[in-house]
Amino acid sequence: MKVEPGRAGEILEGTPLALEEPFPFVCAGCGDCCRERRDLVLSGYDLYRLARWLRLSPRTVAAAFCKSYLGEQTCLPTLCLTPNPHTGDCRFLEGGACQLHPARPLACALYPLGQRIDGATGAVEYIAQTPLCGAAAPGATLREYLQNAGVTDRAGVDARWAVECTRLSRLMQAHRDHPHFAPAARRAAKALYFQYTTREEFYPQFQQNMAQLWPVLDRLFA
Ligand code: SF4
Ligand code: SF4
Repeated sequence: MKVEPGRAGEILEGTPLALEEPFPFVCAGCGDCCRERRDLVLSGYDLYRLARWLRLSPRTVAAAFCKSYLGEQTCLPTLCLTPNPHTGDCRFLEGGACQLHPARPLACALYPLGQRIDGATGAVEYIAQTPLCGAAAPGATLREYLQNAGVTDRAGVDARWAVECTRLSRLMQAHRDHPHFAPAARRAAKALYFQYTTREEFYPQFQQNMAQLWPVLDRLFA
């Protein structure tokens, strides 16, 4: 299972909610989940959406607003939004509001939910961080919340991303001491994050990138 971090990178434990279960939450707009925010890991789709919103290339956005590193356990190239250096808050929090709300990363759209994705099947589970912040929305279900937050529309891409990353992570972990590990990681970063134009949809490009990546990695690790 791949576990997306919650508010401060904590791993969520708990019983998954069913889609028709009550989820009586509505965001009160306090901005607390954007403060002291140093843990916001981006997927390739998150970066693409941000780049499209800002009308910049994914590489430019990453250079300007992200830190890149190699995941210690996953051995995967990873991007994390860097905070505002003066406040420590998310750099897109201005006047208590998110300046890129329609393009906000998945972790932000989900909050106060966390997400577990089965790396083999892509099956998704949602878990609530309790106590819930925000205000009460009696009668609301988890399905309605996910739809309203824009999570449902992107769930297929996010699941595919998790499945590919799980597979890729296994390969990279198995070759962490291989002499070609560094070029393989650079090639993977390109396929996962950078080789995209925002003039075209993300998913077909992602599929094409991964189809090209696997034979390259096979050759590097042969
Ligand atoms: S991207 Fe927007 S919603 Fe997410 S932490 Fe930053 S300000 Fe908050
Ligand atoms: S999700 Fe919760 S913490 Fe974040 S702004 Fe809304 S009410 Fe505040």
